[in-house]
Amino acid sequence: MAISSETRLPEVEAFLAGGPVPSLVGGQMIGDAQSSVFCSVDPGTGKPLADICEMGAGDVDRAVTAAQRAFDASGWASLSPADRRAALGRLADEVERHKDVLAQLESLDGGKILAQAAGDVQNFLDSIRYFANAAMEVEPTSPLTAEGFDAYQARRPWGPCGFIFPWNFPILLVGWGIAPALAAGNTVVIKPAEDTPLSTTYLARLAQQAGIPDGVINVINGPGATTGAALAAHPDLRRMSFTGSPEVGRLIGEACGRNLVPVKLELGGKGAAVVFDDVDVARTAANLVGAVTFHAGQVCCDATRWLVHRPIYDRFVDEVTARMKAVKIGYQLDEATQMGPVVNEKQRRRVLDYLERGQQEGAQAVLEGGPAEVPGRDGFYVRPALLAGSLENVAAREEIFGPVAYLATFDEEDEAVAMVNQTDYGLANSVWTADAARADRVARRMVAGNSWINCHNVFPLGVPYGGVHQSGLGGGVNSIETLHDYWRKLSVVRPIE
Ligand code: NAD
Repeated sequence: MAISSETRLPEVEAFLAGGPVPSLVGGQMIGDAQSSVFCSVDPGTGKPLADICEMGAGDVDRAVTAAQRAFDASGWASLSPADRRAALGRLADEVERHKDVLAQLESLDGGKILAQAAGDVQNFLDSIRYFANAAMEVEPTSPLTAEGFDAYQARRPWGPCGFIFPWNFPILLVGWGIAPALAAGNTVVIKPAEDTPLSTTYLARLAQQAGIPDGVINVINGPGATTGAALAAHPDLRRMSFTGSPEVGRLIGEACGRNLVPVKLELGGKGAAVVFDDVDVARTAANLVGAVTFHAGQVCCDATRWLVHRPIYDRFVDEVTARMKAVKIGYQLDEATQMGPVVNEKQRRRVLDYLERGQQEGAQAVLEGGPAEVPGRDGFYVRPALLAGSLENVAAREEIFGPVAYLATFDEEDEAVAMVNQTDYGLANSVWTADAARADRVARRMVAGNSWINCHNVFPLGVPYGGVHQSGLGGGVNSIETLHDYWRKLSVVRPIE
């Protein structure tokens, strides 16, 4: 029998068929056949993949306690950076050995096409290795100048750090989040999104196999409103990090504020791409269509408002329309597929509702969009869509999180900048032009955490990534800044006798 890319790997099959999937706390599997469960579904078929044991507030408490115990007693916090690098290197090697398994789990669970899921696993590996190395480069203390005193600042890990993640980039975001925390000597409790628990739960088992001490990495599965809320409100966390929607981000911020737990929030966006008339229209169109259809547009930092210089507007619209129509929609494990399903029926409804409401408010449907049929698959598929019109329109203001772009025209540079900044979000924008001086001018005036020039969705390690205003606070992701966030600063002072 020929092995197609759709054939499930034996490890994947065993993991999914092994009964309700338990969480991992302090090195113990938590949950069994008697546990309350929720179901993880394949978005490409609408069929169940596995039952997942649901963790209650007591389990969350147990996880934070296990993380505290590992922080105090496992030796993780006091390892030298070199020894921690060696341990994280073993974790990376274990993940590397199971790359295909993790990629297939990720693809099945989130509807992400297999090549992109494999890219996300690679990204996890890059993050772990980058931060394990980076922690070696930072001196554990820095001298302070103070007359009459010998003084220095020491960097100490905080303790147990909580993480709550969304469903769009499960394994990649786990890497972005926990790699700096672990490299700095902290322990972690992770709550994955309930739509995509599989890769993170599998990862926790790999960490155990790699010899990471019990309790250093804990994973607890369950719904946001119960498991997530219990984690965010836990008073014994020393730091919290949340990636997800601004609505839930506010709740997390409130809960952490009550406990005075420092929190990082990485939230949604409504990014713009400003396209000037001196660009290579075909190339720019290909890039922007590629970005907005990547993972069916479920990407927080996507450019979903395309602001186009009037002289090239018609040509640009022809190019992007042709490319969006040509995107091959299909099952995420089918090698020919360019765009898979959205994550669930709720998300599909959300995309279709925005298309409807946008048009009711007067937007022109340049490319209709709507539900897509994939023969033999009863999944959550939608077609790419293009709307055009006023930026006051609901579809131009709110984050849709689907393969939908909104077109508008401009005549002057100042006008374009004002249009970009006509939002409370502030995650990422891009400017497209052959004029380097203009590119820099516009890049600096767009209000967000990230401005990209002649590219979109690029995340080189070492370059801080993050959002401002409604898109988040804390930032510094992917860079040395975030590593420093995971060290508590301690001033040590002694009078000179
Ligand atoms: P979401 O906010 O609904 O859920 C995110 C996580 O929060 C999930 O694990 C969920 O279970 C949990 N949660 C939900 N309610 C909770 C509560 N009351 N208390 C504690 N936890 C709770 O977001 P989503 O739909 O999973 O993801 C999409 C959103 O994430 C979009 O807005 C997207 O832009 C954003 N996002 C941002 C970034 C970034 O880096 N800025 C990256 C990826 C996604």
